[in-house]
Amino acid sequence: MNLILMGLPGAGKGTQAEKIVDKYQIPHISTGDMFRLAIKEGTELGKQAKSYMDQGELVPDEVTIGIVRERLSKGDAQEGFLLDGFPRTIAQAKALEELLGDMDKSLDYVLHVDVPQEQLIERLTGRRVCPTCGATYHVKYNPPKQEGICDKDGSALIQRDDDKPATVKKRLEVNIEQTQPMLDFYQDKGYLAKIDGDQDIDQVFEDIDKKLRGLSE
Ligand code: AMP
Repeated sequence: MNLILMGLPGAGKGTQAEKIVDKYQIPHISTGDMFRLAIKEGTELGKQAKSYMDQGELVPDEVTIGIVRERLSKGDAQEGFLLDGFPRTIAQAKALEELLGDMDKSLDYVLHVDVPQEQLIERLTGRRVCPTCGATYHVKYNPPKQEGICDKDGSALIQRDDDKPATVKKRLEVNIEQTQPMLDFYQDKGYLAKIDGDQDIDQVFEDIDKKLRGLSE
């Protein structure tokens, strides 16, 4: 099964990605993860990507399409894959179509984990992290035993700068602007499957799974 997973920050895309690849045993291909790994390993690709990522900009299409082409040609992606964070531009979406066509493949679904914006703002601004051990909490959905204190090591929890309300709103706006053309593109092609992400984690996965089970029958 050949899938793309889309969703705004805070929609729970990462959690669902893990569940999908675990159940269906397909590789999770995240361009963001691939770039981060390349930077960590100091490869040529990492050097190319770093300056863009540091500025919060997109890595150029040729570079990004190149790494996806290479990744999709590997053995483990022949029975299916879950793309995450790609495509981010229409040029990437069109390149992917061509690439898949050349490999005699096509997409099955573009899964869009949809959560209302107000809910995303609540999820993101309520996040707190432990500066010592990195544990994450949520003031409402996953509070520590004692308010503001890490359960594991007793440190005072902090709110990351990018989880502050003004930054969260800005980040969402930029993301919406970026993803909408992709959603429209795949809607027109008939691949888009909207998943209600405003439910508990297991129910969201059940809804995704219902669609995917249909593919493997
Ligand atoms: P992510 O983890 O998906 O948020 O990606 C982190 C960063 O990697 C982004 O802010 C971009 O700089 C870069 N990146 C990831 N995926 C892409 C893509 N499909 N096209 C261009 N840049 C990307």
